[in-house]
Amino acid sequence: MMHRFNVVGRRFLSTHRLILPTNPKLLTRIPILRPLSNNTTLSQSELLTEYKSKTQTSVSLETLLDTGSGKLLHASRFPQAEADRLKLSTHERTVMQIASFLRHELPVRLAHRATELRDLPYGLSDSPSIKHVASWYEESFFDILDCPEINTMQDADQIARALQGIYSRHAETLVTVAQGLIEFRKMKLANKGNKGNEPLHEYKEVHAFLDDFFLHRIGVRMLIGQYLEIREPPRAGYVGMVCTSTSAYQAIKEASDHARFMCERQFGDAPYVEIKGRTDLTFSYVPSHLYYMLFEILKNSMRATVEHHSTESDPFPELPDVRVVISDGEDNEDVVIKVSDEGGGFPRSHMKRIFSYLYTTAGNNTVTNSAELKDFGIEGPLAGLGYGLPISRAYARYFGGDLSLVPMEGWGTDAFLHLSRLYDHREPLP
Ligand code: ADP
Ligand code: MG
Repeated sequence: MMHRFNVVGRRFLSTHRLILPTNPKLLTRIPILRPLSNNTTLSQSELLTEYKSKTQTSVSLETLLDTGSGKLLHASRFPQAEADRLKLSTHERTVMQIASFLRHELPVRLAHRATELRDLPYGLSDSPSIKHVASWYEESFFDILDCPEINTMQDADQIARALQGIYSRHAETLVTVAQGLIEFRKMKLANKGNKGNEPLHEYKEVHAFLDDFFLHRIGVRMLIGQYLEIREPPRAGYVGMVCTSTSAYQAIKEASDHARFMCERQFGDAPYVEIKGRTDLTFSYVPSHLYYMLFEILKNSMRATVEHHSTESDPFPELPDVRVVISDGEDNEDVVIKVSDEGGGFPRSHMKRIFSYLYTTAGNNTVTNSAELKDFGIEGPLAGLGYGLPISRAYARYFGGDLSLVPMEGWGTDAFLHLSRLYDHREPLP
């Protein structure tokens, strides 16, 4: 079966609930110095240091799903007798158990990120945008410590309100960090001794930090999103944010509609996308993650195709299709999606830079840090931030999958997106 299309629409994402702040007051910036209801004896920096020394607990997709569907209720944390005394339903017990886990786990994770952001090498921590992101992490850390231990449903409600504010506060982390990296790149390039040819993608510590940072960010948003979703009335086919019948075809279709829209806006033309293979395949996944990865891969393929084929004398040539194949086989270990383009590829020796946060061959590298430019926005530029690929790979790796690119220099590129079906894959936290 083969499908070709070029309609712009937002069906796939719009059918998946997005989490919006309910209380705008939660979004106002809270001064960092404020009394804490729970811990009054330690200073704020001592608290951060204390939580930073604790170990983070990784969870598996299976635990997320099973806890969400009420299968994994810990007798130790909420014994049946206590649940009976409080007249809790199974759903309420589930909510309180997850809330209690988050009340303990999130301050640990947020304290790690906040302190790491303050200690980055090469002066990266001094970039105004990175400082801004660090302050969000600190605010969120204290917001959670301000919440009481979870003993009642009211406590669970209170932490939900705080989490909703946190989820929104950090919505623009990607673009803000990208802005920080642009500031860093400019600072390095302006450096006299550099002469503009220092290979920025070779800042290994910065890359290692960013890989970890974004992986952790995905984890925190996954845990918060899962908790907020589970409190809502159940949706058919969903356990929290995980859709048990995510359609690969729908995700590709929606991502390519949006990528074509952006490509046409930039170049006046865009290649068609052909989808083959298991267009009927559905599997358990987080639809917004799948969409994001495909969107980034397809934008790259489209840009490469247009740039490789158009010439001064023929600015609007016939463009070869981008071809997407969804792997066969119900019992395959992975779901594999291959995106092939005839965009000229790149030298194999560029592979490292391709996945660098500081490398782009697009000239446009300004970021407008507007409220519209959230992680999944189509308002931003088609290319130029240089982190589409590394972030997509982090999304794939979070659930045990991977993203790899195989270039055929002079011809085109194959991108392979491996999505793990391993139900018990744990978060890859160090
Ligand atoms: P950006 O698109 O913002 O530059 P990405 O991380 O998405 O950032 O891609 C980094 C770089 O990798 C691109 O600038 C481009 O040079 C190269 N690249 C990615 N995908 C392809 C492709 N399909 N064909 C050719 N080059 C590619
Ligand atoms: Mg890109």
